[in-house]
Amino acid sequence: VGVGRGAQSGVLIKNAEALERMEKVDTLVVDKTGTLNGGKPSVVAVKTVAGIDEAELLRLTASLERSSEHPLAAAIVRAANERALPLAAVEAFDSPAGKGVTGVVSGRKLIIGNRRIMTEAGVDTGSLDQSADELRREGATAIFVSIDDKAAGIIAIADPIKATTPAAIAALKEAGIRVVMLTGDNATTAKVVAQKLGITEVEAEVLPEDKSKVVERFRSQGLVVAMAGDGVNDAPALAAADVGIAMGTGTDVAMERAGVTLLKGDLNGIVRARHLSAATM
Ligand code: ADP
Ligand code: MG
Repeated sequence: VGVGRGAQSGVLIKNAEALERMEKVDTLVVDKTGTLNGGKPSVVAVKTVAGIDEAELLRLTASLERSSEHPLAAAIVRAANERALPLAAVEAFDSPAGKGVTGVVSGRKLIIGNRRIMTEAGVDTGSLDQSADELRREGATAIFVSIDDKAAGIIAIADPIKATTPAAIAALKEAGIRVVMLTGDNATTAKVVAQKLGITEVEAEVLPEDKSKVVERFRSQGLVVAMAGDGVNDAPALAAADVGIAMGTGTDVAMERAGVTLLKGDLNGIVRARHLSAATM
């Protein structure tokens, strides 16, 4: 079913069940990257420790991230390409979900990702923590880079809020819906973005395998939960919700599991789908 003027409105409802449940939804759990945000992040800063060259850090990092499918990885590769840095081959690539990537480039052992992956590898990020916090307070995602198990630098990535998001969140709150942000990103960055949107509840630093547990926790409290996401690390959470809402701009697996798809990723479609549900019921 296309809501409103056919498919023009960009809301697809898969079945009668999703249509029926939509008006009963009282809680919206919403992913940050790719859902509230535009999903086209870009590198805004590169910081290095003394003795490490910025271009070299970006070259090594982009060489490794070329093997990753994460939107953050794409931003890093783009930044290196813009500077015409020659990328090198990768050995022993691994990508622990929700943490980052590891591998060997030009004989250097690289670990790239969040605080958690650094701590688990025993890399001391002390020299970079203050810079990381400053970048996060501006709403950027700070990605740590270690070379041969020593902290080498930070790459800051910003992902602007989608133009359609603020009005959608305001309308949902107006309709009495509780809105909760769910993200694998750092709590400081998440709160800055949430605050800009008037979202007061944030579940941050959640590992991919734990995202569906957050949805289940709300459901076990008797709430009727919709989960909106792009399917990058959150497809199980979409499946765990009373109504899964996929971004048409996201992954195919998200759209397969979701009852509602917002073709252009415009969250105002959730408000329209609720109106249609109420009118139909
Ligand atoms: P989100 O919930 O915001 O979509 P993810 O669960 O995909 O976030 O990732 C959580 C965090 O793990 C990111 O904010 C980032 O710090 C780190 N991370 C994940 N994948 C990568 C990658 N390919 N390169 C660098 N860091 C990554
Ligand atoms: Mg995501």
